[in-house]
Amino acid sequence: MTGMVDLVIRGAKVVSAEAIYEAAVAVDGECIVAVGDEALMPPARQVLDADGLYLLPGAIDSHVHFRDPGYPHKETWRTGSAAAACGGVTTVFEMPNTNPPTGTLEALRMKLEAARHSYVDYGIHGLLGDDTIDRLEDLLEAGVTSFKAFVGNTFGNLPAPSDGALLEGFEKLAPLGIRTVVHAENSSIMARREAQLKAAGRRDPLAHLDARPAVAEIEAIGRVVTLAEWTGARIHIAHHSAADSLFVLRDAKRRGVDVTVETCPQYLLINTDHMKKLGGLLRVNPPIREPRHNEPLWQALQEGVIDMIATDHAPHTPEEKSREDIWACDCGFPGVETQMPLMLTEVNRGRASLMDYVRWSAVAPAKAWGIWPLKGRIAPGAHADIVLVDMNRRATLQQGRLQSISRISPWHGRTVVGTPCHTLVRGRFVMREGQLVTDAAGWGASVKSIQKMPPPRPRNLDTTSSAIRRAPADAPASARAAPGAQDSIWADESAYLHPLAPSGARTGGAS
Ligand SMILES: [Zn+2]
Repeated sequence: MTGMVDLVIRGAKVVSAEAIYEAAVAVDGECIVAVGDEALMPPARQVLDADGLYLLPGAIDSHVHFRDPGYPHKETWRTGSAAAACGGVTTVFEMPNTNPPTGTLEALRMKLEAARHSYVDYGIHGLLGDDTIDRLEDLLEAGVTSFKAFVGNTFGNLPAPSDGALLEGFEKLAPLGIRTVVHAENSSIMARREAQLKAAGRRDPLAHLDARPAVAEIEAIGRVVTLAEWTGARIHIAHHSAADSLFVLRDAKRRGVDVTVETCPQYLLINTDHMKKLGGLLRVNPPIREPRHNEPLWQALQEGVIDMIATDHAPHTPEEKSREDIWACDCGFPGVETQMPLMLTEVNRGRASLMDYVRWSAVAPAKAWGIWPLKGRIAPGAHADIVLVDMNRRATLQQGRLQSISRISPWHGRTVVGTPCHTLVRGRFVMREGQLVTDAAGWGASVKSIQKMPPPRPRNLDTTSSAIRRAPADAPASARAAPGAQDSIWADESAYLHPLAPSGARTGGAS
């Protein structure tokens, strides 16, 4: 290579999911153009000395709430994405419980307008609810990358989709190969228990957990896995919290259901011992659970039952988080800026390797959302989404120094060892020497144009809502649907084969 490139990063150890090796990385424009021996790098306009640092693909966070439109006093795209940049996160997927919720074309237009201020790249989860079923294709066309179904209630009080709507939504999305995030808690169980707890006068922090027992998660995961398996739809379980529901996912994955799973640092590192002290600050959905849940979640990550780390970055103001009555505290807290130092600290403690961390933070989400291999890896041709981390740097997390508007964090005062020091998004520094590069606001772009999901694997489409519109052949002509009423995508029977079925077998009922 003879041409001059924009940047060579030298001296670092490059980390992939499989290996850690010394190499220089050359960046030109938005992409990585070479990885290898420093002596073989092309001349560069700029050289970054990264001796002693590790070079990782930027983290991809499947689950953030940037609150705009609707709640800019809690967060904006500018502040939320600044937090991402300073936390080593180069791509975020943002949730639809804004106001208006991202379930109409007009609401999506407002969201995309707000996202123009982003420092980091982003995908948009559209809303899958009873009222949006007929607009799913239009929303995809207009820019959403994926959907979210609030099967359990949370901030924004969006009604949970009925099971019928969920099935119909999956029937529509399965042939398109699009993945739906599910907040998997059973709303009916939680509403009844919450009413009883309130009637009994419970206002203490642990009443929140008592309203949302693990069985609410087990039931909801079982239900959505059933619907996903039947239709062949792709789903993603948000913020997995309970040890007890892992068996459902382990079995579903074994059967070939395309379900990906995230958990968050708060479910790995925090439990009810902290909840008793921090109270409403830790009110989050699903709830912070008993200590017995922490270790099985780590094991599930190692095993691959849980695929990835996300944050559920869910900011509120300090006032909204510190009310005396637990039921009056808003649910969630910021996390996108603290995930990496918290997890790197666990790597330093020996709980996982840096390669594991890259698999959980970058490779798995890139694959789940169809942005691999352009994102999630350090290789020629990939986007230069890079984070350089200092595994020896010791720091104390300070909520007052967070980029988020929500300067309140359950991690405040915690000592971490291992922090991000430089973050690049598509070749551009968005954080340098630990400082936000403020003129990079607006550099972030939607990943919609690069998204490419694997081929869809729909199943059982002959029983889908198309059956409602279809009369039997011996019915009177007046009762039959007009020609063309059936979607042509359902004509190819070979597409219906279950991936695990013996060759030549047609898919039948549940396997
Ligand atoms: Zn959330």
